[in-house]
Amino acid sequence: MEPTPSRPPADPRRSVPRTDAVLADPRLRAAADRLGRVLVKTAVADAQHAVRAGRLAPEDVADAALAALPEHATTLRPVINATGVLLHTNLGRAPLSPAARDAVLAAAGTTDVEYDLAAGRRGPRGTGTLDALRAACPAAGDVQVVNNNAAALALAATALARGREIVVSRGEMIEIGDGFRLPDLLTATGARLREVGTTNRTTAADYAAALGPDTAFVLKVHPSNFRIEGFTAAAPIRELAPLGAPVVADIGSGLLAPDPLLPDEPDAATALADGAALVTASADKLLGGPQAGLLLGRRDLLARLRRHPLYRALRPDKTTLAALEATLRGPRPPATRMLHATRPALRARAEALAAALAAHGVDAAVTDTVATVGGGAAPGVELPSVAVALPAHYERPLRARRVVGRMEGDRLLLDLRSVDPADDRALGAAVRTAREGN
Ligand SMILES: *Cc1c(COP(=O)(O)O)cnc(C)c1O
Repeated sequence: MEPTPSRPPADPRRSVPRTDAVLADPRLRAAADRLGRVLVKTAVADAQHAVRAGRLAPEDVADAALAALPEHATTLRPVINATGVLLHTNLGRAPLSPAARDAVLAAAGTTDVEYDLAAGRRGPRGTGTLDALRAACPAAGDVQVVNNNAAALALAATALARGREIVVSRGEMIEIGDGFRLPDLLTATGARLREVGTTNRTTAADYAAALGPDTAFVLKVHPSNFRIEGFTAAAPIRELAPLGAPVVADIGSGLLAPDPLLPDEPDAATALADGAALVTASADKLLGGPQAGLLLGRRDLLARLRRHPLYRALRPDKTTLAALEATLRGPRPPATRMLHATRPALRARAEALAAALAAHGVDAAVTDTVATVGGGAAPGVELPSVAVALPAHYERPLRARRVVGRMEGDRLLLDLRSVDPADDRALGAAVRTAREGN
């Protein structure tokens, strides 16, 4: 019998399903409605490429494309923050409360953000949010919201001090992070900085000597991400307010009232009671809200800020206004809960998680740790915390599963103080699948 000649392998390009045919798959059509055609076509093209390369069977193109599609039409992905840094700037600072997330969704379509439904005409913008902020800080004569604290400072410096002097201590000329230096921002507005005192000591007399006809305001900045210790002196707001010039206080982290857990952290109510004319703060630090800048203080100053053309360039959008209002009116946001969680409660969660993992053969131990506030707030404050410790080789596969922990020696710590308890289950699942994929 003659041997049958072996056939040359079929040209894989001939068997690659055509794009139109794949896109006709109802599941991919539904995905295109949800995510947009561009993302779906890219996923299909990648699958077709895999067929050409011999890595995928032609009949699996639609399934492979579906599996590769992102969950949402954004490259921003949800992450579990197990670093123990509560307000991690690289991870988006404060997580929004369920009430705030819900408010964002509700406001995302067409809304009455600047429309008076009762009168049927244009209305003032974001009044509900401003009312909520006034109610949360009654000491403020008036309030305003912009895109972040840097915007609040830029607006105050531009509207009040352009071509004039801002008097500021040499100990408060700070860099916030990622190369953002406050003095650079302030001088970029056309204001001049009049530096007083020294790095470690500045007294009220130093300020008094610098005040003059060119002074627009005195600026007090909370050194929010470092501490100077030893031979130091700083003049408090209540000693500066009587000098005559308005005092603008950048309190940084956005506490509206004192928090006994953070005795060294300034708050808006106290700063205003001490005589600050204007307070600026971030909304996405200790307040636990969306990225926004808060301005609270004297009515006449806020009126000048609102009238300045720059305000229009700095005003926040409807989803931010909605999230901020829900944060101010709604239940305690996650950041506040994380800050106030007790160590026994954290230990109970860690033990439950470690036990569940041990049952799946994961080498998990419970260990006491120290968490921090982060995000340029409460420097030096150590929060007692509890973590689940895993062998170091879990670090990479967990990051691939969007869990970011903290390496300490040869162990990966999953610090539970920065994890929303609602995510404990997902955290456990990520560790289990990371183990299986090791
Ligand atoms: C964080 C911080 C800022 C910057 O605030 P953003 O909201 O990030 O613009 C400015 N000043 C102080 C003291 C801060 O802590």
